[in-house]
Amino acid sequence: MGQVEQLGRNRTRQRDEIWRVIREAPGPLTVNEILERAQREIPGLGLVTVYRTLKLLKEAAEVRTVILPTGESRYEPAGRAHHHHFHCRACDEVFDLAGCPVRIPDDREISPGFRVDSHDLTFYGTCPECSAA
Ligand SMILES: [Zn+2]
Ligand SMILES: [Zn+2]
Repeated sequence: MGQVEQLGRNRTRQRDEIWRVIREAPGPLTVNEILERAQREIPGLGLVTVYRTLKLLKEAAEVRTVILPTGESRYEPAGRAHHHHFHCRACDEVFDLAGCPVRIPDDREISPGFRVDSHDLTFYGTCPECSAA
């Protein structure tokens, strides 16, 4: 196998592994969490490769950036239905929540002249694992 071909295969493997890690996570991941999890399969993986791969996955509209109220950037699959996030204060993990508890329908005027077309909400507390501990 030629060097260029080998490089191409490595990149495909790295990209597939990073995409799998993001898809299988219980919620959006930080770059460091993606790196740690992907390194279990690809020990030599570096941070620069993770950033480069995230850029490609975002350009392909497979992954989107989630910016938490703290300003922290995390990454999740772009195609997921509308949902919210839960940030566990004990373990610092962020989880996807099923459904939406907001009872204000889109396209409603919530205050005179203010028409809602979307909302963004993050919950804080203790996740099931930390609650049980
Ligand atoms: Zn927790
Ligand atoms: Zn919602």
